[in-house]
Amino acid sequence: MKYENDIFSIEYDRHDEEFIKLLIESLEQKSKPIMNFFEIDKLSKKFQVIIYHNLQDFINLITENGEKPQQYAPWIVASAKDGNINILSLDLYKKAEGHENCDMRHYLKTLVHEFVHVCHHEIILDKKIRPPLLMEGIATQLAGQPYKVSHIDCKAEDLIRNFYDTANCYEYSNSIMGYLLNTKSHDEVLDILREPHKVDVAELIEQTNNFLDKENAMQQ
Ligand SMILES: [Zn+2]
Repeated sequence: MKYENDIFSIEYDRHDEEFIKLLIESLEQKSKPIMNFFEIDKLSKKFQVIIYHNLQDFINLITENGEKPQQYAPWIVASAKDGNINILSLDLYKKAEGHENCDMRHYLKTLVHEFVHVCHHEIILDKKIRPPLLMEGIATQLAGQPYKVSHIDCKAEDLIRNFYDTANCYEYSNSIMGYLLNTKSHDEVLDILREPHKVDVAELIEQTNNFLDKENAMQQ
């Protein structure tokens, strides 16, 4: 069976119908506000939502058929590779490292997170340079994933060179993006997101920590 609208298409088996309904609802609800955020009227191409029921197929996609094994880690559950949203089935998702306690709510947020990557990719000026820090920051923020810390405790180099190997990388990226969203105008944020490689990460860490200190002090 196939569902299709202006923005995406999704193929599925009949026995997944109820589950797919929730996915479609969630994406339809979130797609407009997210596209508005990025000031996109129409995506350059309609994307597919591809659900993987076979883990090896998913690993093959991520590692480009085993050629880049370093690109896969057992906690990866979805990817916006090739302009599509590739995501594990809910069963496989719950079996992935760190996702044991996840439910449908987390799953839907992951789906929206990947959609943010698709939209962000549209506005990035140089598609060859895609530093993860602000990409993951804006994706976790707009997907409403509650990854927050009270202090960033790593070196700028870690977030620039070894982002995914850095402990709490998603929490740090979420907090940095939170700082930007709270202190910059929408136009300024979009300018930063168009050329995310141009930010001074060391300065951003410092500014975010100052921002978090003030927030923490206010809460006490
Ligand atoms: Zn992501």
